[in-house]
Amino acid sequence: MSVEIQAAQAGETPTISKTNLMGLSEEKLVAFFDSIGEKRFRATQVLKWIHQMGVIDFDLMTNISKALRAKLQACAEIRLPEVQEQLDSADGTRKFLIKVDGGSVIETVFIPDGERGTLCVSSQIGCALDCSFCATGKQGFNRDLTAAEIIGQVWIAANSFGQFGEKRPRIITNVVMMGMGEPLLNFHNVVDSMNLMMHDNCYCISKRRVTLSTSGVVPALDKLSGLTDACLAISLHAPNDELRNQLVPINKKYPIAMLLESAQRYIAGLPDNHRKITIEYTLIRNVNDRPHHAHELAELLKEIPVKINLIPFNPFNLSNYERVSNNALRTFQEILTKADLITTVRTTRGDDIDAACGQLAGTVNDRTRRSERYRAMSAQVDALAANLAVEVPEETIKIMAP
Ligand code: SAH
Ligand code: SF4
Repeated sequence: MSVEIQAAQAGETPTISKTNLMGLSEEKLVAFFDSIGEKRFRATQVLKWIHQMGVIDFDLMTNISKALRAKLQACAEIRLPEVQEQLDSADGTRKFLIKVDGGSVIETVFIPDGERGTLCVSSQIGCALDCSFCATGKQGFNRDLTAAEIIGQVWIAANSFGQFGEKRPRIITNVVMMGMGEPLLNFHNVVDSMNLMMHDNCYCISKRRVTLSTSGVVPALDKLSGLTDACLAISLHAPNDELRNQLVPINKKYPIAMLLESAQRYIAGLPDNHRKITIEYTLIRNVNDRPHHAHELAELLKEIPVKINLIPFNPFNLSNYERVSNNALRTFQEILTKADLITTVRTTRGDDIDAACGQLAGTVNDRTRRSERYRAMSAQVDALAANLAVEVPEETIKIMAP
């Protein structure tokens, strides 16, 4: 029995679910307007209102007739997740705690650095991949974020900096999909959201400044070409499979060689062919920070167009790992630099508000044992791989007649 009939029998007014326009890509917005008998240029107008002007109230969309606004009010909405708290660090880092449907809280972090302002965006509530050094992984997995919740994080941050409107000061210059979650396991929502970030009529962030970071969901990475032009970062953290299996369990399914080949295919397929793969390497004391690891890493990457980003491990409650020492960090970087590999070190920011890499924990609760979590993760990856192997039909947009 439909919700409407059940509600009518119970004597209640049926609630009609409205289409949330917040997370719709341009194509999906065009399909939506088409389905309500409106011209496609309306999609461009609404896209600009939402993501360029920051307007989410149909009544303020002045180039849209009153009649159409009323029609939109009846069948659509522009709904954002709710900001629960905004925390500002002494160093300018800003963290947003964002409450999403279901009550979980996700985290989004803005990190200013001179002219550059990087927004670190979450893609899932928790993460199933269970990397041994990551606070998000320790929380387990709850669900994927919707596209509205992903691009909503950018909207919320842009709005907090007054980045909307005609003048549009450029505060957020870069976006990295390095918050909570594994972006490639939430494939379509992440692709749609990144494309909105880069769209000329939206946030207009350069494709060289939007980066997807992955621990290595190879079947999904293989499907990315042609769907987006974003930059790619690989969370490597170890120079060999034996060590990486311990740190990044998905490596048991998709080992290093397979991952690096897939990453190279993606980069080679980009329209501008001089882009490098960013290699993220979290340095953990006495685990993966020894000089022989650096030499092995240099050997592994010598023929591949990469730049390496070393991240000192950020400790958190549930972990026994320790941060790399400054000496070991310096030695590690020197070995790589001597081998002609461009190597930078990510400085920790927002210490006073727990905003550092790997410390984003949100409020997911999952106390399942690690072996069970591995099986759940494996099943999730298999399901995604099977799903991506067939052409995914255009997502059906639920439309209610106004
Ligand atoms: N799931 C994706 C993106 C989110 S994690 C991925 O793994 O790539 C973003 C980055 O933070 C990854 O490179 C991850 O390895 C790193 N990271 C996770 N926990 C960390 C910690 N405690 N200290 C330092 N870096 C960490
Ligand atoms: Fe997930 Fe990335 Fe954390 Fe691994 S490092 S558990 S993939 S969020």
